[in-house]
Amino acid sequence: MVMLHQLPRLHSSIFLTKTPFLYTHFNLLPKPKLPTKTTSTLFSALNSTLSTTSEPIPIPTHNLDIPEETHVPISIEKLFVPPDTDVSSDTTASLSTRILKGSNIVLSKYARDAQVSQADFVKSSVDTQACPSDGLPEFALVGRSNVGKSSLLNSIVRRKKLALTSKKPGKTQCINHFRINDSWYLVDLPGYGYAAAPHELRIDWEKFTKDYFLNRSTLVSVFLLIDASIPAKKIDLEYASWLGENQVPMTLVFTKCDKRKKKKNGGKRPEENVNDFQELIRGFFQTAPPWIMTSSVTNQGRDEILLHMAQLRNYWLKH
Ligand code: GDP
Repeated sequence: MVMLHQLPRLHSSIFLTKTPFLYTHFNLLPKPKLPTKTTSTLFSALNSTLSTTSEPIPIPTHNLDIPEETHVPISIEKLFVPPDTDVSSDTTASLSTRILKGSNIVLSKYARDAQVSQADFVKSSVDTQACPSDGLPEFALVGRSNVGKSSLLNSIVRRKKLALTSKKPGKTQCINHFRINDSWYLVDLPGYGYAAAPHELRIDWEKFTKDYFLNRSTLVSVFLLIDASIPAKKIDLEYASWLGENQVPMTLVFTKCDKRKKKKNGGKRPEENVNDFQELIRGFFQTAPPWIMTSSVTNQGRDEILLHMAQLRNYWLKH
């Protein structure tokens, strides 16, 4: 077991000056694969214990007793090892130094150019065909309404109000592209699970985002935001499993990890909710998807997300 809280914090500057990596050949972005059980089988099991999308999911009784600090124990088989990265000759100690803090993500030689120096809103598109056609790689941010998506986007680009663009009337149901450093895109997708949204609008939205996930050839990875201050929601589990079933590369971004009041947050700390979520989606993936803990209040995870995006992007550009 590698205890992530014991690891030194990694910064891009460290990464740029050191080359502690093993060099082998990448083939594919590791795409999540469905286990032998299908999504619908597994979800009918979940559905039998749940009636509404807002109910917390019951968790098996294996929960860890996690102390005050951010302690996230992680076993080696639960790490996300990026493509073209060989960890077979690493010792546990050397591997530990390559894991991004508060995540299960191993750094690869592709994690460079992670700084954001420029961020511009480019356009709002009503469907996939209308999206920018310059071929730049992109990452889509998606999550339940109120999960903290706008706050995270602003935190990543270090701008207070960039994401407000996506909240302007008429643009909330659009695919909003922000160009970063003139070389890649952050894409803000409409929030889901908004109870007040009319049924027809929800159906329509589903069609349009699913089409984007399946047909956008420059999409490097979806970043699915999950609120770590509350227990797992059925709708989030469904979303994660749909992405897994359709082999859409996905990173789980846990938000609001600064909210540590157990009582207020349904009796669990963010670390426990993060572990529970992993456990609940494990059946849908052959290998563990990457996940990372963040807070837009403390900026936890901001540099780490950028490094992770950089390594996925640079690998994508080369292959
Ligand atoms: P969106 O609807 O997903 O874009 O969510 P927003 O970014 O607008 O955030 C929704 C609410 O959650 C706001 O009240 C934010 O201040 C709050 N929030 C967002 N991120 C965080 C976070 O990391 N920590 C805490 N404590 N609150 C947050």
